[in-house]
Order: sequence, then C-alpha cells, then structure tokens
Amino acid sequence: MEVVVLGSGSPLPDPDRAGPSTLVRTGAGDLLFDCGRGVLMRAAAARSGAGAFVALFLTHLHSDHLTDLNDIVTMRWATSFAPSPLRLFGPTGTGRVVQAVGEMLEADIGYRLSHHADLGWRPVTEVTEIGGPTVLELNGIRVTAAFTDHAPVRPTLGFRIDDGGRSVVIAGDTVPCSGLDGLCADADVLVHTAVRRDLIEGIGLPRLTDVLDYHSSVEDAAETAERNRVGTLLLTHLVPAPEPGTDDEWAGLATARFGGRVIVANDLTTVTIDG
Ligand SMILES: [Zn+2]
Ligand SMILES: [Zn+2]
Repeated sequence: MEVVVLGSGSPLPDPDRAGPSTLVRTGAGDLLFDCGRGVLMRAAAARSGAGAFVALFLTHLHSDHLTDLNDIVTMRWATSFAPSPLRLFGPTGTGRVVQAVGEMLEADIGYRLSHHADLGWRPVTEVTEIGGPTVLELNGIRVTAAFTDHAPVRPTLGFRIDDGGRSVVIAGDTVPCSGLDGLCADADVLVHTAVRRDLIEGIGLPRLTDVLDYHSSVEDAAETAERNRVGTLLLTHLVPAPEPGTDDEWAGLATARFGGRVIVANDLTTVTIDG
C-alpha cells in the first residue's frame, strides 16, 4: 500500500502546496480522500487521475476539502469511453453538494454532449452518505468510517483503510477524539492535519486564531499517534504553511510526544508500506 499526499496546503492559495487531498494506492486501486485545490494536477504528477479513482471519500464539507470536486466529475466523464460512475462516500449533506455541482456543470454537460457524437452519456456520481460508524468492503479491502470532532462542523468523518494486513488512517480535520482513536489502533500510517498553535497565537489574527478551536495541533496529533501505537505520523494540511527549512522544527514538536516515525508532508510526499 502507498500513501501519496496530493495536497499538503492550508485553505490559503500557496504556490507550492495544493489544497488538502490524499491518495491511497491499494490492491483494489486508487482511493482518493478529499479533493482540494489542484488535486488533479497533483494526481497527474502521481500518474493517477479522475478516471483511475475507485472511489472518492470526503471527510467533511468544508470548501477547502472539495473545491475541485467539479473538476473530478467533469474529467472522469469527458475523458471516458463508456459510462463510468464515480463512487463518492461522504458525510450527511454530500448528496446536496453533488447535486449542486451537477447543476453548476449543466451548461458544460450540454455543450459537450451536443459536440461529441461518441459521448452519449452524462456524468453520474453514486453518492453514499455515511450517517454513522460504517465498514465498507471495496474490491477486497476494508474501509472503516467513524465520526470525528471538528465542531461546529458536523458531521465529520475519519477513515481507516485495511489492505492485506496493512492499514492507513485519514484523520481529516479534527481535535483528538474517541472516534479517531478507534480508527487509529496499531495503524501503520496516520495521515493527520495539523496546525502550529505557537505560530498562530504569535500572529494574533482573530480569523486565524479561530482555527485553533477545531484542529489538532502538531502536539495533539503526536499524542493521538502515540496513544494508539501508530507506526508513522504523516502531518499534512499544515497551518500556517511551514517556512522553508523549518520541517525539522515541526517534526521536533511531534517527536517529543511520539516515539514512531514523523514525516512533515510536502505535495507528493509518498509513504510506502511494505507487505
Ligand atoms: Zn475543516
Ligand atoms: Zn481543512
């Protein structure tokens, strides 16, 4: 199994970091978790793409985690040679978002259907809203979903992927919580969003300080990893964006509380799990 961080950035546009998105390559194919700004550019760099995704999972409906959903819907459809529904799993409310994206694309869909004689089908997105703890079987791998805590954003989901005895957890945006702990037990890799409390408090902007309410700090993420015997902690969706040369400083805050391996993600950081 392989984890590729497609976008490691914050909600703010950044020349070097795309919006939050993680690709998990499994024996059953490519699973995509969230689809922030620039996701398909980074997927192309990883030799994947809209047509390759076995399924897309949304951790929550914050805009920075789904800005490019329309791009995935369009590219999967417009480059297809047969109907190829996109399987999408997300929290309650996902169906409404997908419907609205479809309405937004309606003119474009009409243009392409009338222009391309060999394109005789519309884009189809098969949405499954996850309303509680859930275990899915997907082509021989298991995906487990549980509620996380990103209040006042509700509901929010974390995911665990089990494939051939190896496991990856996608925390999404959350503070430490029992739902996430349950997913993380003995996981090989925990992909966790993280903010730097010390830096954000130093900046002192209320709009930025607010994010501390509902995100894990680097230290929080490290403690979640330690408490649940995780192998590798992969920190992503970094706020504020790390200054060049400060990765060791970020990692040091985590290694002070976690005995496993810590990786501070850039876009396309890849972690391969043997076995
Ligand atoms: Zn969020
Ligand atoms: Zn976010």
